[in-house]
Amino acid sequence: MEHTCIHLPASEMPRQWYNIQADLPRPLDPPIHPATGQPIGPEDLAPIFPMGLIEQEVSQQRWVDIPDEILTVLARWRPTPLVRARRLEAALDTPARIYYKNESFSPAGSHKPNTAVAQAYYNKREGVRRICTETGAGQWGSALAMACAIFGLDCRVYMVRVSYEQKPYRRVLMNCYGAEVLPSPTRLTQAGRSVLERDPECPGSLGIAISEAVEDAATHDDTKYSLGSVLNHVLMHQTVIGLEAKKQFEMVGDYPDVLIGCHGGGSNFAGFTFPFVADKIAGTHNPEVIAVEPAASPSLTRGPYAYDFGDTAGMTPLLKMFTLGHGFVPPPVHAGGLRYHGAAPLVSLLKAEGLIDAVAYPQTPVFESAVLFARTELWIPAPESAHAVHCAIEKARQAKAEGREMVIAFNLSGHGLLDLAGYDQHFAGKLEDLEMPEEELKRALAELPKPGGGQ
Ligand SMILES: *Cc1c(COP(=O)(O)O)cnc(C)c1O
Repeated sequence: MEHTCIHLPASEMPRQWYNIQADLPRPLDPPIHPATGQPIGPEDLAPIFPMGLIEQEVSQQRWVDIPDEILTVLARWRPTPLVRARRLEAALDTPARIYYKNESFSPAGSHKPNTAVAQAYYNKREGVRRICTETGAGQWGSALAMACAIFGLDCRVYMVRVSYEQKPYRRVLMNCYGAEVLPSPTRLTQAGRSVLERDPECPGSLGIAISEAVEDAATHDDTKYSLGSVLNHVLMHQTVIGLEAKKQFEMVGDYPDVLIGCHGGGSNFAGFTFPFVADKIAGTHNPEVIAVEPAASPSLTRGPYAYDFGDTAGMTPLLKMFTLGHGFVPPPVHAGGLRYHGAAPLVSLLKAEGLIDAVAYPQTPVFESAVLFARTELWIPAPESAHAVHCAIEKARQAKAEGREMVIAFNLSGHGLLDLAGYDQHFAGKLEDLEMPEEELKRALAELPKPGGGQ
């Protein structure tokens, strides 16, 4: 029998997270207070995040110990397998060797529990009783709901109203874990009420839901807010993916020439690739590292590198990142988890320094590749993950055309069993390929905030 799944022994699970801040070619530009134009300090974040996570956000320490309580939970589904995609390789008739890390092996079905569990733990340790968050498609909400169930925390999820109505199963999943799920905008917050006054039928947006969750945390002493991507500590929690993958590549005596992850806010891409980017920075290896985004929401490929708000409503500090403008609402492509106007500051810096690349694809070819993957490798990719699948397939075709060996590795960030409506529309030929028009890009960018300009 030829080996296909490369299983890491449980004893080899990473016990430390990798913090790439220690190895950057230059330090990150600090988050800025929009009104003063000055860098924000820990005290600005303390009302909404626990201190343990704020410390990690600014830490320059290369290796950060993972507490035992977190390891014990992660060990229920980790290490996840690294899989050699032999059936896909055969279907493509490619000389490339294709591997994928399968992060759909978690109870919530994606990589997101890797950070949800850590965030719930630090909140619990500091006496927080309740966590609020927002969710769009529902993946982050279900991961956090699960993590709160583990540590006995109350969880409230502001779910974008259209998703709440169109995607009932994700809501039910959150209810199963004991979370309270509200269609946003609600009448429970000032942010929600002011939106509803202007538009009682408002379908909601991620930006509005973030504003509601942040306000809820800021106005309740026992409550904190939790974010599923973008921030430094979130990306660091996800590095267990790449650290495991590196050991798995050692087990088979291979090393990737190309590393690929889909990119929404940047957390699964970073978690998978940063431990390899460390080798690139150290000069020991030189893999090509590619972030894949939807053509409908192309921050890394078409946005400028500038300070912008993390949310649509303009409540967060300003972050230096590739952005399409905080006012940009991406069209409703099926990869809901990739519909974010910005990008993680850490990923953005690496892109600006030329250490990583980015590509953008429209959704039809992405779904075609996802179906090929399902029929060969048998896992149904989440529409987000399907962007990475498509890039890997494109690379394997290139290897074939050039008649050369290539080791391709991508992160399968989650399964698509709750996203079958997107596949249904694909089979019915009803998917639209939405590219961001140049005029819309110009308009969104004209609204970029000027730090200290009093906006
Ligand atoms: C949320 C999500 C993403 C996008 O988020 P990142 O922070 O960019 O990783 C990608 N894949 C899946 C399956 C998701 O749930």
